[in-house]
Amino acid sequence: MARYKRPKTIEKYWFETYGCQMNIAESEALEMQLKGIGLTAAEKCEEADISIINTCSVRQSAENRVWGRIGNYSRIKTDHPMILVVMGCMAERLKDSLKKDAPQVDYVFGTNDKLKIVDVALGKRRFQRDESYGFLDNYYKEGDVSTFVPIMNGCNNFCTYCIVPYTRGRESSRPLEAVLTEVKFLDSKGVKEISLLGQNVNSYNYVDEDGNTIKFPQLLERVCEVAGNIEWIRFESPHPKDFSDELIEVIKKEKKVAKHIHLPIQSGSDRILKIMNRRYDSAKLITLIDKLRAAVPEITFSTDVMVGFPSETEEELADSQKMMNYLRCTEAFMYYWNPREGTPATEMDGQIPDDIKKARLQSIIDRQQEIFGEEKAKMAHGVHRVLVTKVSRDDENKYLGRGEHNEMVAFTHDDSVKIDDVAEVEYLSTKGNTILGRLYKKSEV
Ligand code: SF4
Repeated sequence: MARYKRPKTIEKYWFETYGCQMNIAESEALEMQLKGIGLTAAEKCEEADISIINTCSVRQSAENRVWGRIGNYSRIKTDHPMILVVMGCMAERLKDSLKKDAPQVDYVFGTNDKLKIVDVALGKRRFQRDESYGFLDNYYKEGDVSTFVPIMNGCNNFCTYCIVPYTRGRESSRPLEAVLTEVKFLDSKGVKEISLLGQNVNSYNYVDEDGNTIKFPQLLERVCEVAGNIEWIRFESPHPKDFSDELIEVIKKEKKVAKHIHLPIQSGSDRILKIMNRRYDSAKLITLIDKLRAAVPEITFSTDVMVGFPSETEEELADSQKMMNYLRCTEAFMYYWNPREGTPATEMDGQIPDDIKKARLQSIIDRQQEIFGEEKAKMAHGVHRVLVTKVSRDDENKYLGRGEHNEMVAFTHDDSVKIDDVAEVEYLSTKGNTILGRLYKKSEV
């Protein structure tokens, strides 16, 4: 068996992050902590003294990719002393069995143990597992103008296809004051857009020291109060079953809450929703969409939809298509069911062959592409605020940016705007899913 040496000193780190926004936010926060104790980012993994792989378990393919990367580290560590840490959902799921299968891994830290990476960098060697999840003080990465603010972790819902409740554990909510402190800090740093983040973000439920319960609508209101010059406040991912009338009122009332809502429907079939354990049906979805449209006529949606769930029929696929036609998203994450070891759906009868799943997915995608284009065309008029993100690859005289509805905009401009500004852009036409426009005037934020 290969023997690996530890580095004499730990000065350079390397991060690889896979999976969801929560992983990205946690990696960024940990990077800031490592910088805080004097480490610097390595330019490539081969030069790091400590490498950290933040993993995702949501699909087998995500884990396979990490296994490939862990394999690469075996070679790197043979030539170069290094500490290799595997953290995140895959670490939580496989625990020490991961280390047995991969002796090049020095530490396996589950979702509750991420802060121990800082201790490793400080030279500590032995650890006990933590039983509960802890939020970091700050998730900001220097220079970001668009950033995530984790507000809750975990999930109590146990959708039958999802590994998250097993890897992230039960729901826990970040203290209100910690969220507000971070939002004020982000405003002071010139951040333009924040996304409140959680696996089931609208089930936020924090009980303060005086016994007062703060639910998601109240949290959102309080965040708006302290947001200063932050342009848009977004949140993801909400669960349709937890989308209350009170939350709709806050979205309507608060100007800073972006009028673009992610509503993960997953399916439009009542039977499939039931065996997915989603705890809503198509009637509830339609009522919710209608209420949101009545409260905020300009609202737009994005969604997640899964096809090819075990035993799904062509008629049930058509129900999903109908729901998508009703929702008329401007963007969507469309995917087909893949068995996930450790989830009940993997054991269900009626697994659908891959070629049929792929054909079903393609049929949904084809129809959605038409809807995306139609919805973008409806948006292509008037003057809108746009967060400038980069120079267009197709035309260096144009900037690319995103508007309140997360729409991609390419626009001509002058020297009065630069990347990371919020600009006022006149929308003129569309090309595919991109809105074309011209600078109207620079915003005075
Ligand atoms: S609500 Fe979301 S995170 Fe929770 S089990 Fe369902 S899909 Fe997974």
